[in-house]
Amino acid sequence: MSIELLTQPQIRENVPLAGLTSMRVGGAAEYYIAPKSALELATSLDWANQHHLSVTVIGAGSNLLISDRGLSGLVICTRHLRGMDFDDSSGKVTAAAGEPVARLAMQLASRGWSGFEWAVGIPGTVGGLVVMNGGAQGGCAADCVQSVKLVSLIGENRVIYPQDLGFSYRTSVLQDSLHLVTEAEFKFQTGGNPEAIALDTETKLKARHTAQPYHLPNCGSVFRNPSPQFAAKLIQDAGLKGYRIGNAQVSELHANFIVNLGNAQASDILRLIQHIQSVVRDRYDITLETEVKMIGDFK
Ligand SMILES: Cc1cc2nc3c(=O)[nH]c(=O)nc-3n(C[C@H](O)[C@H](O)[C@H](O)COP(=O)(O)OP(=O)(O)OC[C@H]3O[C@@H](n4cnc5c(N)ncnc54)[C@H](O)[C@@H]3O)c2cc1C
Repeated sequence: MSIELLTQPQIRENVPLAGLTSMRVGGAAEYYIAPKSALELATSLDWANQHHLSVTVIGAGSNLLISDRGLSGLVICTRHLRGMDFDDSSGKVTAAAGEPVARLAMQLASRGWSGFEWAVGIPGTVGGLVVMNGGAQGGCAADCVQSVKLVSLIGENRVIYPQDLGFSYRTSVLQDSLHLVTEAEFKFQTGGNPEAIALDTETKLKARHTAQPYHLPNCGSVFRNPSPQFAAKLIQDAGLKGYRIGNAQVSELHANFIVNLGNAQASDILRLIQHIQSVVRDRYDITLETEVKMIGDFK
């Protein structure tokens, strides 16, 4: 029996999540909301707490593998939490959690601010970038984050600074924590040439589109690089490029990507992940850890 939703009309029941992820797989959310304001966010957290529901936060869903069985409790998607505020005198910008990273990169380039060109090809939100300490081409979120505003899943607000964020390779203390990022403040170099920075940004984006399978649904790098090795090289050298389970395939273009050839199931992708891990372990005695976040019931 469904919980009374009348007090929270924006909360919907049984909402398919596959289309809200870049991998295009996964079942439905028991309850779902994409709040448009801090107030809507606060009231939805209250609602989940009153009904003793678990809360799962998603951004652009570009680093997620959601179970075919979907997610119980309330799924809060941040993609409608928008807004950016630029301060030319300090080179600081505050961006709401749901702002697309690429949009922030383009806005910075058009203002002649440098230091975020590397981020343009990351198809996530500001919140997801901070939580994952996303990075590319030598840059990462930790290089430019000044502070992060959080709300705990019981509705308490706080600000956290880099020294407490535990940033390291593709991780932060915010992963799997009971907090939602609502906004982040970044600092960049101002006073550059907008045309030159925009050109550099566009060039970086084009390079990624050539080297990575942007034309098919995927979730970015599936595995963390086991330093000093590269996951893609290990997978490629193990002969797994193009290997397929159901409609999940190791990308022909970049071996650390799994692509969805059409209607793949999360279970196919999980089986492919496990197969890759097993082959790489047998061949190199290296355990590949996943970078993609698997959420929901996979048993
Ligand atoms: C084609 C492609 C290329 C990619 N290239 C890169 C790359 O170069 N570098 C890189 O680092 N990543 C890359 N990724 C992966 C992905 O884009 C990043 O990890 C991104 O930062 C995830 O952001 P998101 O908003 O999509 O987060 P989601 O995938 O929605 O969520 C990821 C994790 O963050 C949590 N989360 C998201 N938003 C919040 C929030 N506001 N508060 C609290 N928790 C939150 C979620 O609970 C989840 O645990 C790529 C992905 C694709 C599809």
